Amino acid sequence: MEQFYTIQGEGAFQGTPAYFVRIAGCDVGCVWCDVKDSWNAEDHPIVAVDEMVSLARQSGGQIVVVTGGEPAMYDLAYLTEQIHREGLRTHIETSGAYPLSGEWDWVCLSPKKFKQPVEDIFPQADELKIVVYNQTDFKWAEDHAREVSATCKLYLQPEWSVEKKVLPKIIEYAKANPKWRISLQVHKYMDIP
Ligand code: SF4
Repeated sequence: MEQFYTIQGEGAFQGTPAYFVRIAGCDVGCVWCDVKDSWNAEDHPIVAVDEMVSLARQSGGQIVVVTGGEPAMYDLAYLTEQIHREGLRTHIETSGAYPLSGEWDWVCLSPKKFKQPVEDIFPQADELKIVVYNQTDFKWAEDHAREVSATCKLYLQPEWSVEKKVLPKIIEYAKANPKWRISLQVHKYMDIP
């Protein structure tokens, strides 16, 4: 769908320069999705993997973040192999709705209520990022925190359109349950993609 060099705004690598590759196609259907244009892959041109990786290398970034859409819908083995061949790190952001292919240096699992994650994804997650939209999402967060490994970092992130309403609740929740950290979408504050 698009690719661009920017600053990672969310989660464990927040504030880190990263090259983003956004792959079109998603059938998860989150009601609050902020990239609905990505849902239909046929709306976007086909781009050769080698071209994507060449542009990533030329950017000067050290990390390639593969996102979507839901990138795990595709076989990502060749893409990650080529990124590694250039000496760059491979990071993915996935809802976990599909089994993961490829070699990943960092897996950010952000499960969605609209399509449950597959079981295999939980032990692979380096970071669990729960988007909080309403009060019931805290229980949803705990249910998934039980499934990931002991070293997986845990993040609560307010959904952007309700951030002002839910952030005070997230702050109180994190203070009471300090295994959680708070992730904000700081790229939106910086007005960058
Ligand atoms: Fe949008 Fe991501 Fe949800 Fe797909 S999984 S609908 S791209 S937020």
